[in-house]
Amino acid sequence: MPKTEDYLALEGAINQAFQASLTPFEAFRLLQSGHERFLNHLTHRRSRGNLLADAATGQYPYAAVLGCIDSRVPVEEVFDAAFGDMFVARVAGNTVSSDILGSLEYACKYAGAKLILVLGHTKCGAVQGAWSKLEDGHITELLLHIEPAVRAVQSVRGAEPTDDNLKACVEANVSHTVKQIREKSTILSGMEAAGEIAVIGGMYDVSTGRVEFVVQPSWAAETETA
Ligand SMILES: [Zn+2]
Repeated sequence: MPKTEDYLALEGAINQAFQASLTPFEAFRLLQSGHERFLNHLTHRRSRGNLLADAATGQYPYAAVLGCIDSRVPVEEVFDAAFGDMFVARVAGNTVSSDILGSLEYACKYAGAKLILVLGHTKCGAVQGAWSKLEDGHITELLLHIEPAVRAVQSVRGAEPTDDNLKACVEANVSHTVKQIREKSTILSGMEAAGEIAVIGGMYDVSTGRVEFVVQPSWAAETETA
């Protein structure tokens, strides 16, 4: 994986030339290799001073992650990411609103990120709340975003809140969010159609620390045997 080797050889943050050299596929491989380092306790350390010095001059992240606010999903840590590696947007249930879409559009169109990962997770309280129709304060409106996934899963599996059903709902919600990004953002769908970015989905298991990529372009599956 030459890009990963180049990444690991950087003394500070990702620079403009490195970011510009990446395809969405290579950004996905960087994300995967970072996650492998995390799983294998091989965290890559680089100089804080160099990272801060580079941060002062700009940012050239390779990916943007839309995750849940859950305290058990520390996004940068899970992908062994350093300062300047990734944009991270977090909202309960990892759903989209116009603010989140605007953030992702900025990350990709104006700051050059090559990949968007929507990251759901097991034991998601927001998904459990939507499943049980929790209504309270602003939470009511927040959970409406997860309703389509709840409806889709309950129509097939019934309304019993088993671990398997809730996990299926988290996965359906990730797929729904990926679809929403494509349908609601002409900027991002245009960039994806042009091959400038890719939008993928992942599922983080809070008990193992492992991410499974559940929505991915065809090229991503090829890497499993590469
Ligand atoms: Zn959650």
